[in-house]
Amino acid sequence: MGPGPSLSAPPHVDIDAIRDRAMTCTDCRLAETRTQVVWSAGNLDSDVLFIGEAPGFHEDKQGIAFVGAAGQLLDTLLGEVGLDRSQVAIVNVIKCRPPNNRDPLPDEIEACRPYLEAQLRHMQPKVIVTLGNFATRFVTGLQIGITKARGQLFDYGGATVIPTFHPAAALRGGRFGGLSPVDAIRADMKVVRTILEQARARDVEARQQAAVGSSEQLGLF
Ligand code: SF4
Repeated sequence: MGPGPSLSAPPHVDIDAIRDRAMTCTDCRLAETRTQVVWSAGNLDSDVLFIGEAPGFHEDKQGIAFVGAAGQLLDTLLGEVGLDRSQVAIVNVIKCRPPNNRDPLPDEIEACRPYLEAQLRHMQPKVIVTLGNFATRFVTGLQIGITKARGQLFDYGGATVIPTFHPAAALRGGRFGGLSPVDAIRADMKVVRTILEQARARDVEARQQAAVGSSEQLGLF
């Protein structure tokens, strides 16, 4: 894992105020064609952040990230490793649907960048799962495709970044290294679970050491 951007500053993010601003945002052309801004799904106070590309037809109508067939696949694969939407957050690189689900344009990604960066700073996640090319490039800062990035781990301010296929792309089929893309995501979910458990174990150990350290200091007086 190479060094990544810092998640550490600023210390406090007023995520509700930033969300309120996003809901009426007109900072790029997508404001003209969206039905509504899609801020997130799941739990923005959890340890795991999934980042997709952009809202699609159903997300734009319902205002929730990852509904429809891709969302159902994600829910199924999360469930297989004992996770659900109460234990993860799901967001997109851009918060408004591009017309006809076209790719986000570079200036749209830049205009929307502060919202995803605020979500990252607010959450300080232990694990970030990037779904597809756009999220992987955003988080790693590398011009890398998902087929090359998958199987590698990256660092983002102390969070472990796990790139995998976008569920919508996986539903279109194909093969990757002998696996179907759905099975590739399935395998990556096991990595998510393992790394999450390791990070939580490190937290517990650090808290125990801090408690021992402070009780020893008290013993000096
Ligand atoms: S995509 Fe992002 S920057 Fe563009 S209008 Fe929507 S919220 Fe604003």
